[in-house]
Parts: sequence; C-alpha cells; structure tokens
Amino acid sequence: MYYKTIELLPKEISIDNKIVDLIWQFVYILECNGQILKDYKVIKNKNYRLYVTTPKKDSLSEKYDSIYVKSVREKVLEYFTLSEEDIGVNIESQEYCSCANRDAIEMQTYNTDIDSVFTCCNCGKPIALYELPYPENSADYSDVLTWQQNYSAIDTLWLNCISDRYTGNQRVNFDSAVNKQGIEIAKYLSKRLGYPVYYHLSCDYGKKIKVEKVGNKQIHVCPKCGNVMKRVEFSNNCKIDVCENCALSYDFDDDVI
Ligand SMILES: [Zn+2]
Ligand SMILES: [Zn+2]
Repeated sequence: MYYKTIELLPKEISIDNKIVDLIWQFVYILECNGQILKDYKVIKNKNYRLYVTTPKKDSLSEKYDSIYVKSVREKVLEYFTLSEEDIGVNIESQEYCSCANRDAIEMQTYNTDIDSVFTCCNCGKPIALYELPYPENSADYSDVLTWQQNYSAIDTLWLNCISDRYTGNQRVNFDSAVNKQGIEIAKYLSKRLGYPVYYHLSCDYGKKIKVEKVGNKQIHVCPKCGNVMKRVEFSNNCKIDVCENCALSYDFDDDVI
C-alpha cells in the first residue's frame, strides 16, 4: 500500500561488501515477516537507499519485528542511521484490513499478486502477515512466502499455456502438491486463531467442478466431501462459496453451465 524510501546514512566512512550483504539480509528478513512486500529495491548512490512497499503506515515499526528482524536491525544500526520518507501509495498493492475482530480469513494468491495471501472475510482486504500467528515451527512467514512463490509460478506457467495438464491440475485439485502445501498452512493458522481460514481453489470447469442450483443461485459442490457449499458475502459485495467442514472456498459464479 505505502511506498517509502529508507536511506542508510553510514556512521563510518568505509563500507565493505559484508555490509552490503547485511543490507540484503535486512530487506529479505523484513519481507519474511510481512513488514515489506516483495519487489523492493536497494539502490546505491551516495548512500544506500531502500525502496519498499509496506502494508500499513507503521509496518516498519520495531514493535512488529520478528526475532530475526530484531537481530539484523541491531546490526544494521551499528553501521547506519535509518531515515524513512513517505513517497505515496503503491497502486499495485491494496489497502490493508484494520478490523478489530475477524470471523474468517481466505487464503489465496495469483501470478502477479504482491499483497498478503490472507484476505479478511469481514472487510475483503488483505491482512498484514505480522498480525497473524506464525506457521507451525516458524518464527516468521517464510513458509507462507514460499507457498506464494510456488503458486504464482504455477499460475504464470498455466496462463502462458505451458504444461496445461500439470499446471491446471496443480491449481484446481485440492490434493495437488501446491494446494496441499497451502492447506497445511491454512489449517494450522485456523487452529491458532480459533476461526476458519478457507483455502481458495481455482475453477476450471473442464475439470468437472460441480455446481448445484439452489433457488436462483448456482452454488459449488465441495470437491472433497461432496456437500453443497455455503454462499458467504463480504461487506464490499464480494461473494465466495465455502465448505465449512473442509475449509475450502471458490469464487462465486452464478453463470456456470
Ligand atoms: Zn478486515
Ligand atoms: Zn467439504
């Protein structure tokens, strides 16, 4: 959402390559904690300058640091003074959720998505990763980012018509390798939060995804348990079909068949 620059003003004159590695480590570890989004830049002019997108205005605050960010930030501050400046709003990224309470979350991404993979089902906006519990046995969100990279790679190959059968099955089948990886993360998160985290499945009607007519609506049938799903509406008019038992979701589509 917010585009910022961070200038690193050196405390000493000589900066060797080890320090450059430290700068890369700093931005990477901030990304792994969801404090900055992907596609950041490190630019060298007189000083080093970081160009980053943050989910929220105060995302770079130390209060959100993971143990890894905390330790790398301490090292960076030994060599540099950090000076932050707001540039504007990165329109590639959406406004983030600020709900005090959430009833459910949906997990999904697509090929060019730079935002958090978790969407609040109350307001329909993405949720900053650092506001959520860490995945199992983790102290940051690198597992979530790995899944996002995998899904985005498959989605890109599918959209570019490479290995249609393989990439199509990976996106659509709930038990494909990439979907299994994501469902495991969603399941654990739901256990920690105490409310549903629906894993979003892609639709490809050539692959026999079923729908049923319920009144004037066509609702998806859950591919795992075979029950008719439930239509859920977000506050911003966004509708999804969900299976509460299997924690799976589809985009709503009343025009099918
Ligand atoms: Zn929200
Ligand atoms: Zn189900």
